[in-house]
Amino acid sequence: MRHGNDDLSTLAAGVAPRPRVGRPAAGPTMVQQAYDHLLTALMTLQIAPGERIAIDQVARRLNISQTPIREALSQLEAEKLVHKLPNVGYRASAQMTREEVRDLYTLRQLIEPYAAARAAEAMTEAAVEELEAIDKAMSNVGEDAAGGYSRFAEADDRLHRLIATLSGNRLIADTVERLHAHLHIFRALYSTNAPTEAAAEHRAIIDALIARDGATASKAVRTHLERSQQRMDRVLAGDSATTA
Ligand SMILES: [Zn+2]
Repeated sequence: MRHGNDDLSTLAAGVAPRPRVGRPAAGPTMVQQAYDHLLTALMTLQIAPGERIAIDQVARRLNISQTPIREALSQLEAEKLVHKLPNVGYRASAQMTREEVRDLYTLRQLIEPYAAARAAEAMTEAAVEELEAIDKAMSNVGEDAAGGYSRFAEADDRLHRLIATLSGNRLIADTVERLHAHLHIFRALYSTNAPTEAAAEHRAIIDALIARDGATASKAVRTHLERSQQRMDRVLAGDSATTA
């Protein structure tokens, strides 16, 4: 059934036009929507480190009230991605220092090789399929394709999170997820992770997991983290923000 004044582009997209009768009350879905929006903006540096976050602008943009946005911001604050200043409001957290990055890798080295060994023991058909999908996504990212880096970073995120989840240890899964958010922001700024090198290291991890070889998977993760840290450190040592 169609009416003369329907918005054709909305109909074409198969989405019902949104009723414009006041703003809906805050609920879990709206908090999630606000959280996803803000996290993406932080990850992709649309909100730069140290930049103030204008709650009213975000509310207008998402067409929701400020309440779910404040709630999302307090979640992001707990994850140390933003912080609240009296009389100023929320700001995106500052860029990580070289020491903080080193500490981050130290922690990852303590938990991720262990998680990979456990994951190899817990492989399921579904997990194998997901690993193959991640491998495919990584192989399809060209070194210099537009948006290639962020797509690669996304696949990298998926892989490390999947391993942490498959470890069966909820605390490890939560920790890796949180750490990755920080690293991701850092990498977006410096673009250090050479996709080709890292893709080969990822493939070694994926192959060992699919073969259910815990010792090899664990070793492959350790090697990958070492090399990833070296790549990052080289850029930081040069104090340059312009590495392709
Ligand atoms: Zn990785």
